[in-house]
Amino acid sequence: PSQTLPEMLAASVATYGKKTALEFFGAVTTYRELGEQVSRAAEGLRRLGVRAGDRVALVLPNSPQHVVAFYAALRLGAIVIEHNPLYTPRELRHQFEDHGAKFAIVWDKLADTVAEFPSDLALQHVVSVDITAALPVAKRLALRLPIAKAREARAQLTATPTSKRPLPWAKLLTRGSLSRKHPGPALGDIALLQYTSGTTGSPKGAVLTHANLRANAMQGRAWVPGLRDGEETFYGVLPLFHAYGLTLCLTFAMSIGARLVLFPKYDLELVAAATKKSPPTFLPAVPPIYDQLARAAARGTLDLTSVRFAISGAMSLPVATVDRWEAATGGLLVEGYGMTESSPVALGNPIGPSRRPGTVGVPFPSTDIRVVDPENPTHDLPLGEAGELLLRGPQVFQGYWNRPADTAETLIDGEWLRTGDIASVSPDGFVTITDRLKEIIITGGFNVSPSEVEDVLAAHPDIVGAAVVALPKPRGGEDVAAAIVLREGTSIEPEAVREFCKSRLAPYKVPRRVIVVDELPRSLIGKVLRREVRERLMS
Ligand code: ATP
Ligand code: MG
Repeated sequence: PSQTLPEMLAASVATYGKKTALEFFGAVTTYRELGEQVSRAAEGLRRLGVRAGDRVALVLPNSPQHVVAFYAALRLGAIVIEHNPLYTPRELRHQFEDHGAKFAIVWDKLADTVAEFPSDLALQHVVSVDITAALPVAKRLALRLPIAKAREARAQLTATPTSKRPLPWAKLLTRGSLSRKHPGPALGDIALLQYTSGTTGSPKGAVLTHANLRANAMQGRAWVPGLRDGEETFYGVLPLFHAYGLTLCLTFAMSIGARLVLFPKYDLELVAAATKKSPPTFLPAVPPIYDQLARAAARGTLDLTSVRFAISGAMSLPVATVDRWEAATGGLLVEGYGMTESSPVALGNPIGPSRRPGTVGVPFPSTDIRVVDPENPTHDLPLGEAGELLLRGPQVFQGYWNRPADTAETLIDGEWLRTGDIASVSPDGFVTITDRLKEIIITGGFNVSPSEVEDVLAAHPDIVGAAVVALPKPRGGEDVAAAIVLREGTSIEPEAVREFCKSRLAPYKVPRRVIVVDELPRSLIGKVLRREVRERLMS
């Protein structure tokens, strides 16, 4: 890469000026308007005191203001920290304690809560954003999604008179434009502190530079054949506060002059409504979303035949979802792999007939991989053997914020990223991810792969979802346990499930305990939260 993220945006503003950059409930922002708003927001932030290297926390749903705030902070050389606005006040406060940002730009529903954070935090300035401000009244009402209502109710419960009165976003924009001569960041500067999903432990702040993030957008560009610069329509249904949405929706779209349609939350009806005005051509998402969209398309509820690129990641993509999507839309659905620590994408299937469902494809351009013995990560395993996947490339992060021990453990020789995932490589170079190392169950000295047991459970005609976890035994060691979701209108005894497994699995792999749940607990991006499954099974 030769451009920082704000330089990249400036280049797109110059090239695509009159084209639409952002669309939000039908309201559009052109590239030129976006450039102007970024410049005004940057000047507002500068007057508030933001300087190069300062940390600016964003606690915002997907919205045009989110995009403007992101680029404005970066333009000043500040470090953006993304947050999930649906975190509880307690979870958010922990993150603020961890990163110590002095500035926060916050969804108005939460601004008072954040402004009330204890005064021993570094936080000094809170800007409050009404993401519906530019929309007509009818649209604003439509935006009162159930989730926003719940958040509002909670905020009202906790709201007390504020100590740091939030500054309204609109006021921030009234202070003129940033001088073009104002120095911006350098390529090697930190752009982003991106928290991991917290699937295996508490979320860790991954330090990513402009070069890391820009490289990943360029790698994405090289990956997707036949993209038409200035002509594509991206759907931003993934949250921008997660690495996947941030790169695959935002920075990628802005780098090729695409129209980015932003959704504050994934919602089938919102997507269906948007397709009528701006049919999507590029739709990155996660398997549960593809599954729901494909079923709706098959019913004729919405038309997705315009989608030329559908790219799945974050968790393994069931082949049944691929078939359903491709039958309903006529387009390809391909799987990639990545993690927050690699900006995030590191591997992807070829987008064309040579893609291979069930695998995560091949390394991205300029990305190297190794498969090593997890006990001894400097020891490479022979081709075909399963071991821990290591990654090296321009998108690999610099380390974890304030966690030198975790960084040293995760970055071997300062460059090879330990993924914590178990992978094997086929003779022609396709990578299959089976499990996470941390989730392997050790029972009576045997290793059990949760995904293998889940696949068997999923083959039962009445089971539509399964999560297999380790359950600690009272006297040490672990048992295999499963939570299952049944097809509507069916019922099944746990013992019958065990019998079904017994005929297909070695005895030590058969779940000792099986419970039926209404649905599996999932993170906002749709990953099964095994910690919560374990808690349910233990209670
Ligand atoms: P934490 O690191 O906080 O425990 P997390 O690892 O879930 O959370 P992310 O960085 O969002 O946080 O996710 C990266 C992980 O997602 C990978 O390590 C891998 O386990 C999983 N993953 C990503 N893509 C795929 C895929 N295509 N198939 C299977 N797993 C995937
Ligand atoms: Mg992780």
